[in-house]
Amino acid sequence: MTDPSDCLFCKFVRREIEPVVVGESDLSLAFRDINPQAPTHVLVIPKRHVADAAELTAASAEELADVFALAAQVAADDGLANGYRLVFNTGRDAGQEVFHAHLHLLGARAMTWPPG
Ligand code: 5GP
Ligand code: ZN
Repeated sequence: MTDPSDCLFCKFVRREIEPVVVGESDLSLAFRDINPQAPTHVLVIPKRHVADAAELTAASAEELADVFALAAQVAADDGLANGYRLVFNTGRDAGQEVFHAHLHLLGARAMTWPPG
């Protein structure tokens, strides 16, 4: 498991590194992805370090729900009334690269399904 002291997203939570923050609650932080795959591409994370969506689900229903609630708030703030996509890449086969759980919020363009 990634040590929280070395975790990039924990550094964002502690503001040792400043991401472009677009939303925050007591339990969660939302910031713009550095390599956006859509005009809106925001990552929503639990402030507490957990590796992935499975660990987040097992750890706390309150923290899991808070991540989704903040994503919905950011989607509304960004005017995504026509829809958006929420994705948790979970594990290496899904392409997860940062092992601090994060919910991708993608929107402001039409999307295809299934993803690659
Ligand atoms: P994953 O592939 O783990 O689901 O997604 C990791 C995401 O983190 C990628 O979309 C990547 O662009 C984003 N990311 C990686 N490093 C940084 C960074 O330093 N700042 C921000 N804002 N996003 C990052
Ligand atoms: Zn972390």
